[in-house]
Amino acid sequence: MSETLVQLAYLVAAVLFIVGLKNLSAARTAPLGNALSATGMLIAVVATLLVTGVVDYVVILAGILVGSATGAVLATRIQMTAMPQMVALLNGFGGIASALVASAELFSYARSGVEPTGVVPLAIVLSVLIGGVTFTGSLIAFAKLQELMRGQPITYTGQQIVNALLGIAAIGLSAAVVMEPPALEAYAGLVALALLLGVLLVIPIGGADMPVVISLLNSYSGLAACATGFVLGNSRLVISGSLVGASGIILTKLMCDAMNRSLANVLFSAFGQAQAAGGGAAAEDRAVKAYTPDDAAIIFGSSQSVIVVPGYGLAVAQAQHAVRELADELEGQGIQVRYAIHPVAGRMPGHMNVLLAEANVPYEALVEMDEINPEFPETDVALVIGANDVVNPAAREDESSPIYGMPILNVDQAHHVFVIKRSMNPGFAGIDNPLFYNENTMMVFGDAKGTVLALVEALRQG
Ligand code: NAP
Repeated sequence: MSETLVQLAYLVAAVLFIVGLKNLSAARTAPLGNALSATGMLIAVVATLLVTGVVDYVVILAGILVGSATGAVLATRIQMTAMPQMVALLNGFGGIASALVASAELFSYARSGVEPTGVVPLAIVLSVLIGGVTFTGSLIAFAKLQELMRGQPITYTGQQIVNALLGIAAIGLSAAVVMEPPALEAYAGLVALALLLGVLLVIPIGGADMPVVISLLNSYSGLAACATGFVLGNSRLVISGSLVGASGIILTKLMCDAMNRSLANVLFSAFGQAQAAGGGAAAEDRAVKAYTPDDAAIIFGSSQSVIVVPGYGLAVAQAQHAVRELADELEGQGIQVRYAIHPVAGRMPGHMNVLLAEANVPYEALVEMDEINPEFPETDVALVIGANDVVNPAAREDESSPIYGMPILNVDQAHHVFVIKRSMNPGFAGIDNPLFYNENTMMVFGDAKGTVLALVEALRQG
């Protein structure tokens, strides 16, 4: 395959990646975006295989078979709620793959006695450093989310100083490799430090902040791939790595903004350790109104508009199909049903969109926070299912609350609020929710799926 054709194939692949990414930004066009990006990757892989000419196709085929079989088994068996862990593992593998390829290049230079020139030595150390941190950092994120290790932040005195010193040492070793490549001893030290830093940087972060960390590590894995692209002089890898790096960091920023927290706060504040309970008077001083699904059905029956607010508990209970049944029943009775989507409801971006799409809830019925908030005062019933922090009015009203300033769904402004959850336990932020004690709030305690199905049954009985 001629060099011009290969470069043309890379260009087509890059355009497909970019158009694919654009399509991935909306639920309706996401499947097309996925298909376009995958096609781009196929074109790029085929072009790369044809250009090198020194490829052992048996090894490549064996790799494809083992990789595809493992991926297919993992992807089909994984629960939706465990998706963040799966993404963490994939990022980690991406990071280590980049580091291994860059290392192989360094060894090949060392063997041939030819010294790498230009940006190559710098690209090698960046790939190894970022790839190594991404690998072990992602494994820790995986272990925390999979509950293989304690989700609580692991902290000790002088932690930031230790990490800073190790970071400086890593920079020193990187400089040694860059100045006199291959410098294999400094390189070995750099590998060890990168792997250690990945562990040490992630252990002080609480399990619930892992989605943000995973998004950041996703960005890192892209940067490592981009650096490896420079090592190999492969423009396709540089472009796709930059796209992953940029989109990962944009997603990280969006998640931080939606929680009204800075990235530094997520990375260094050990959020998730014992939190002060915000929200005014102590919980035990105040009473809540507990309703049964039968009681709730009476109020639903006399309403005209309902906004469903899904949260993490809906995902845990896998109540999406039950919610769809409820919406069908309500709509059958002439009641308007919409869904309010908070950007960080659940445990990963787009969590609620994916869940509801699985139950064939029409996209048009899902309304983003800024658009739906002005609608609550005109709404008869806000039905909160397994959501807590994203509807906590303390974020609006209580300056002492750890989530003060986080944009929330203003469900408290609806005429009636029903909250389905199992107990008075807090959500991710570990804080009390004054919504539950409001005059117009009724708690319906129970597992989201069972309770919603009971509500459907009660509505059917009339
Ligand atoms: P949340 O505040 O974590 O609350 C979830 C609630 O679901 C809990 O209070 C729990 O109460 C209830 N629940 C759990 N299992 C249930 C079941 N089987 N049936 C019924 N209810 C159940 O959830 P959220 O309102 O969705 O807020 C998301 C939180 O995660 C935010 O604080 C956000 O900042 C954070 N976060 C999100 C992302 C993201 O990308 N989405 C990333 C990082 C952090 P009971 O135990 O009483 O049932």
